[in-house]
Amino acid sequence: MYQISRIGRLTKNARSVSSMIGSRSTNTSNTTLVNNKIKNETHSIRQYANVTGGNIMSSTFSKTPMGIFADQLFLQPINPATNQPITDLKIDTKITLQQKYEKAYLYKEQWKNTSAIDKKIMITKFRDLLVERVDKLASDLTDESGKPITQARNEILAVVERINFFLHNFEDIVADKVIRTTDKFKELLVQEPLGVIANISAWNYPFFISLNVIIPALLTGNCVLFKPSEFSSITGLNIMALLYEAGVPEPAFQIVLGKSIISQSLLNLPIDGVFFTGSNATGKKISETLVGRMVKTQLELGGKDAVYVHKSADIYKAAASVADGAMYNTGQGCCSVERIYVDKEIYDKFTQELVNVVKTFKFSFDPKNPKTYFGPLTRGVAQIEHLQKLIGNALKRGAILELGGNVVEDAPGYFFAPTVLSNVHENMDIQKEEIFGPVVTIQPVSGVEEAVAQMNNTAFGLTNAVYAQDSKVANFVIQKSNTGTVYWNACDRVSPYLPWSGRNQSGIGSTLGVEGIRNFVKPKAIHLISPGPAQFFGESYASEIIPPTNPDLESLVAQKASQSIQYTDIDNAAPTELFPPVEIDFQVEDGHDEDGLLSESGMPDIEEDHPDPNEITDDDMSILEDIKNQLDSNKKNE
Ligand code: NAD
Repeated sequence: MYQISRIGRLTKNARSVSSMIGSRSTNTSNTTLVNNKIKNETHSIRQYANVTGGNIMSSTFSKTPMGIFADQLFLQPINPATNQPITDLKIDTKITLQQKYEKAYLYKEQWKNTSAIDKKIMITKFRDLLVERVDKLASDLTDESGKPITQARNEILAVVERINFFLHNFEDIVADKVIRTTDKFKELLVQEPLGVIANISAWNYPFFISLNVIIPALLTGNCVLFKPSEFSSITGLNIMALLYEAGVPEPAFQIVLGKSIISQSLLNLPIDGVFFTGSNATGKKISETLVGRMVKTQLELGGKDAVYVHKSADIYKAAASVADGAMYNTGQGCCSVERIYVDKEIYDKFTQELVNVVKTFKFSFDPKNPKTYFGPLTRGVAQIEHLQKLIGNALKRGAILELGGNVVEDAPGYFFAPTVLSNVHENMDIQKEEIFGPVVTIQPVSGVEEAVAQMNNTAFGLTNAVYAQDSKVANFVIQKSNTGTVYWNACDRVSPYLPWSGRNQSGIGSTLGVEGIRNFVKPKAIHLISPGPAQFFGESYASEIIPPTNPDLESLVAQKASQSIQYTDIDNAAPTELFPPVEIDFQVEDGHDEDGLLSESGMPDIEEDHPDPNEITDDDMSILEDIKNQLDSNKKNE
C-alpha cells in the first residue's frame, strides 16, 4: 500500500530506540513480539506526514476519478489495521443539514407528546436488536476503528445495562410534580424537553459515547441530530438503522455525516442543546462558536488520568489492574491510565511487574482474532506522530524506555508498540498532554501527599485512582482529588448509575446517572393562584422537598445560643432591635406633615449638611498663615 510503503521506506533509515537511549529492557518480549522491531525516528515520520498533508483520506481519494474533491462529497473510512478503504459515504451539505433540522423542528411537539410507554417500547426493541446483531455490529466497528473484536463485542453488550438504567429512571425525572398546595395557591414543577439537540460524538467508544446521549435524549422527548465521528460513521449508520427498525420515527433521530466543517454548520443552526464528546481542542472551538447564544452545552473532553500505587498495595494485583486500565482499547480511552505514581519503596518492583503484565497482552495484526488485545491506532498517522513527539521529548529529558516506544515494523496498518516509560517528571510534555494511545508513564513519589499533588498537577480533571490496602491513604486521595471520578483499587471504569463528569479542561456537565437524564429537560415552574373560595385546590399538600420543622436543628440552635453566640429571637423581637432607627436631621417646612416625615411629593425634604467646597474656613486661614511665616523666615535666613 501507498502509505505503508512510505512508512517502510522511511523506517529503514531509523535507528533503534535502544541504541539511542540506553533502554533498560528492550528485548524481553515473548508474546508481544514487537519490542525489538520498533523505530524511533520521529523526524522521518514527520516528513512522511507532510507528504500526505497528514490527511489519510485525501491521499486515498487522490487516486479516485474525482481526486481530492471527492473529500468534499464523501467520507472514505479506512480500516486502520489494513490501511484499506472500506466504502464511500456521502456526507451532508449545508442544504441537507438545513432540511434535516427543519424536519426535526416540525416534529418536536409530536415527539414530545409521544407517550412514555411508546418510547420505552421502541428503546427496548432497539436494545434487543443490539444484542441480536452484535456480531455484525462488532465486525463493522472493528473494520472501521481497529478495535479488537472481543472489545467491540464487550462494548456493544455493555450498552444494555446503560439502556436499562435510562429506561428505568427517565419517567420519574420527567414526571410532573405538585410541590405545594394550600387553600390559596398551588405550585407545580414540570419538565420539558430541550427541543432539537445536536450530539457531536467521538470514535473511541462509539456505542457508549453516542448512546449515553441519544437514548436519554429520545426518551425525554428531544429530537436528535447525531453527528458521529468521521472515524466511526459506519457504526453511526448502524445505530440509525437499528433505531428506525425499532420504530423511532425518522424526524426524531437523524444522522449528519461529515467532518469538522459540517459539524460547525450544525452548530450554526438554531439548535436547543449541544452534547459533545471529543478532544479538548475541539471542545474549545465549539464553545467559541456558541458564545453568546445561551445554548445548553455539554462538553465531555479529554483526560490525563492518574493512578497512585501506595506501598501497602498488593503489587501484583495493582500491576494487573493498572496495566489493563492503561492499555485496554489500545489506550484510546478518555479514562485510560496515562500517569502512574508509585511509592519509591516499591517502584522498581512495580515497574517490572507492570511491564511483565503488558507483555502478556496479546499483540496481533489481526483485530478480528478473538484473543487479540492490542489493535491499531484508529486515527493513523496523526496519532503516530503525536505519540512519537511525546515519547521523543520524554526520552531526551531523561525518561527510561521500559517497553515499546514506536511504530511496529512491517505492520499492515497503524500499529504502535505498547510502551512503558519510567523515570518521567512533571516538566515533560508526556506528563501534561493527553497521550491517547498504548503508552503509560511511571514516576516515583515519596508518599501520598506528593502523589496527590502530582495527580492534581494537570489542566484536566477526569479520573484519579489509588491502589492501597490502607484505607486512610485511600480516603486521603479520594478527598483531595480534583476529578469527577475517583477509584479505590480500580481504574478505567464507568458505571451507568453514577454521573460521568470532568472538571477543569475535562469538560462541563455529565452523562449517565440521574444527572445524565436530567440534562435533557428544562424545568418550568407553575404558580396557580386560586380564583375561587378556600380549598379550591382541595387538600393541602407539601412534597418531600419542603423541609418539615426540624427539632434537632432547633435544639442545636438553642444549645449554641446558651454557649456563646446570642441569636435574636426574630419573631418576638421589638422592631427597634432588628431595625435600629437611622437619625436623619432634616427641617420641616410650612404646610408639610407636622412630624416632618413626608413632604407632598411623598419624600422627606432633607437639607443635608454638605460643606461648601469654596468656603474659606478658619483652618484654611491658619494654614495660610503658617506658610506665610515659613516663607518670611526663609527669606531672613537667606
Ligand atoms: P475530536 O475532537 O477530534 O472529534 C470529536 C467530534 O468533533 C467528531 O465528530 C469531529 O468530527 C467533530 N469535530 C472536529 N473538529 C470540530 C470543530 N472544529 N467543530 C465542531 N466539531 C468538530 O475527538 P476524537 O478524536 O473523535 O475523540 C478523542 C477525544 O475524545 C479524546 O480527547 C478523548 O479523551 C475524548 N473523549 C472524552 C470522553 C469523555 O467522556 N470525557 C469520552 C470519549 C472520548
